[in-house]
Amino acid sequence: MEIKTASRLALLPPYLFAELDRLKKEVASKGVDVISLSIGDPDLPTPRHIVETLKRAADEPKNHRYPDYEGLPQFREASADWYRRRFGVSFDYQREVCALIGSKEGIANFATAVVDPGDIVLIPDPGYPVYYSGCVFNGGEPYFLPLRKENAFLPDLGSIPAEIARRAKVLWLNYPNNPTAATVDLSFFQDAVKFSLKHDVILAHDSAYSEIAYDGYRSPSVFQTDGSRECAIEFHSLSKTFSMTGWRVGFAIGNAKLIGALGKVKTNMDSGVFQAVQEAAITGLAGGDGDKLAEYCAIYKERRDLLVKALRALGLECENPRATFYVWTKVPRVYTSVSFTERVLKEAGIAITPGSGFGKGGEGYVRFSLTSERLVEAVDRLKALRL
Ligand SMILES: *Cc1c(COP(=O)(O)O)cnc(C)c1O
Repeated sequence: MEIKTASRLALLPPYLFAELDRLKKEVASKGVDVISLSIGDPDLPTPRHIVETLKRAADEPKNHRYPDYEGLPQFREASADWYRRRFGVSFDYQREVCALIGSKEGIANFATAVVDPGDIVLIPDPGYPVYYSGCVFNGGEPYFLPLRKENAFLPDLGSIPAEIARRAKVLWLNYPNNPTAATVDLSFFQDAVKFSLKHDVILAHDSAYSEIAYDGYRSPSVFQTDGSRECAIEFHSLSKTFSMTGWRVGFAIGNAKLIGALGKVKTNMDSGVFQAVQEAAITGLAGGDGDKLAEYCAIYKERRDLLVKALRALGLECENPRATFYVWTKVPRVYTSVSFTERVLKEAGIAITPGSGFGKGGEGYVRFSLTSERLVEAVDRLKALRL
């Protein structure tokens, strides 16, 4: 028979990186030991006390069974407590918090919970690809909000046409931002909440990088603004904060109706987070002895300083990020995102990510990631590059 897959799969953007993957193999086959600065996945290990809790919890037969769909009450309570200590805002963990199998899962399923066919979804460009796939998989129409340097990589909400705002269902934001590493002050969130309330648009904030910050910067939460509880949901992840990308755990917090709708989708699509992982996550959220966050941020900061200095010495224009572990870098005029990425791969043996992989708005940029223990070596190779 001829297998015909769902037409929604054809809505995904073409895979940009096939040629780059081929080139990476070719470079490696010539004996070059390629250094990857292309993925946002911490090389630093999950703190010991979290791993130890998992080991103990994995031994418990009660944890071998199906978990509660919405997360252990203790996990949700620990999430709400962590959130309150960090942002000074209280939530009822029973109605306003939902456990996630990583925030990517929550972001994707949230679209199913709120997007109807024909609804417009406001999506930052460049941006994390799941906002787009969640939108189009549910019949939504993406409307891209360009993140430009002239506007500090913030969307210009005032420039959204009235007709688009009227039809919009969800506004996605992500600060600290991937891939641009831009950060915001609370006043930006206050403006976004005003926009949401004025146009009846759900505000969905992806807060995956809230704790990866430098130079004393403390990223705000949407819920530190007036009116936010009426319209918003925020997605938190343990992946970057506790170097737990492989563990798959995060939580959503916010408006009870939005949390309930997400929970309803999840109940029908998945069966929750392994309880032993939830117990380990509680250890992380509780903080205390063994917490590596400050130490890890200091390591990323040192790498950032080294890389930013080297890139600028090469004459490249880049941001000096206050948060995230990315350095968003403008490519010289004669290149595209992809051609510059190829040049760096061929001549320096370093894999980076072309900005165009995050949407049209990322063209003209590349993203360097700081999550490699070989960053010093990578910087030495970059220094030898003749652009
Ligand atoms: C890493 C990342 C996530 C979080 O992923 P998890 O599924 O929690 O591991 C979410 N949003 C952005 C922008 C990210 O970069």
